Amino acid sequence: MEKQNLDWSNLGFEYRPIDKRFISNYKDGAWDEGTLSDDPEVRINECSGILQYCQEVFEGMKAYSRKDGSVVIFRPEMNAERMANSAEYIAMPPYPVEKFVEACDAVVKANLSWVPPYGSGASLYLRPYMFASGPVIGVKPSDEYQFRIIAMPVGPYFKGGAKPLSLVVSDFDRAAPHGTGHIKAGLNYAMSLHAYVDAHQRGFDENVFLDSATRTYIEETGGANFLFVTKDGEVVTPESHTILPSITRRSLMIVARDILGLKVSERPVKVDELKDFAEAGLCGTAAVISPVGKITYKGEEIFLPSGMKEMGPITKKLYDTLTGIQSGDIEAPEGWIHVVHPGK
Ligand SMILES: *Cc1c(COP(=O)(O)O)cnc(C)c1O
Repeated sequence: MEKQNLDWSNLGFEYRPIDKRFISNYKDGAWDEGTLSDDPEVRINECSGILQYCQEVFEGMKAYSRKDGSVVIFRPEMNAERMANSAEYIAMPPYPVEKFVEACDAVVKANLSWVPPYGSGASLYLRPYMFASGPVIGVKPSDEYQFRIIAMPVGPYFKGGAKPLSLVVSDFDRAAPHGTGHIKAGLNYAMSLHAYVDAHQRGFDENVFLDSATRTYIEETGGANFLFVTKDGEVVTPESHTILPSITRRSLMIVARDILGLKVSERPVKVDELKDFAEAGLCGTAAVISPVGKITYKGEEIFLPSGMKEMGPITKKLYDTLTGIQSGDIEAPEGWIHVVHPGK
């Protein structure tokens, strides 16, 4: 397979139109078969539901090359199930789980020359999404939808290794107690952008959102879940119904318990507990784990003992183990690696 002529080791995390994308349309109560297309433009009615009332959900996942030349995706059926849940919650027809995974395979196979080579640190980012394409003006769900999977090669989220982040506990709320915080929808991001720009202008990397009902418990950032490590080595993640269930975080909790033999717990985490933790990290597909060095709360800086120079030791073990599983250097738990294209 002839690869594209790209500087694979220096890719950013940016949109780039590549050869093929998958498109399926929902009309008259059913999804069509779907097809691969060369066309990066979407043509929809001026009154489409996505443009008026923001009916849209999405996913994010990666395909990458392994040492043996195979191309794999990490737990894609988890993304398929999550997207179906997200869709139902904003009154969209779910895209069938099995067909979602088949469509991911088709996109990766049709763009093999764009899958970064093993060892480059880069991967092919897959962005499945669906939106209301049919016209609506009175408030109601649309009758027509489009599901697309686009793909683009991306570099490691943090070039030159992960530098610990400086976070701030936000004065804004991300998710209402019985709202949409647990689904992966563009609407949750739209309303986080003002808080994001505000935090950046004040020199912080990300916001920490608290539960909006009591503002006493840690939830997540705009796009990643938390893992904390206690001073006696227990891995803790916040439990809440208004957090988006990160597949990376759920996988890391299994790695911590079953592979590293650590004590783990998923429980409500009070913002007042921050000063008691030894390490903190943010989990998501893009960066796997980003270490957190400092969190500012009500003007006070709370430094994690792991410091501002490098990942804490347990965070690093978790990171190395999960990335080792993904790249094939460590044996994967049953069903975690979906092979799209066989190696030698
Ligand atoms: C996508 C997302 C995450 C991370 O989920 P992964 O499945 O690990 O990529 C975390 N929080 C929010 C709000 C997200 O949208």
